[in-house]
Amino acid sequence: MIVYDMRCGNGHVFEEWFTSLGDYDSKAEEGLACPECGDTAVTKALSAPRVNGGATEPAGAPCGLPACGMGGCQLMNGG
Ligand SMILES: [Zn+2]
Repeated sequence: MIVYDMRCGNGHVFEEWFTSLGDYDSKAEEGLACPECGDTAVTKALSAPRVNGGATEPAGAPCGLPACGMGGCQLMNGG
């Protein structure tokens, strides 16, 4: 199964499940409708692949001290 985030012309975003890429093509050709408002101007919303987790790691890997993540790391400050 493939799940896509779809967006209608009124900005509603909803999930649509497809059994295959061909299934998506045929349904898109028939015309998908928004479950909220019935709008058929539905496009595939660009979205990143779903990842479990949520919290993103800070870019610069800290040295491991709690103070480092708060900007008070002596090593990072050249101290
Ligand atoms: Zn809608």
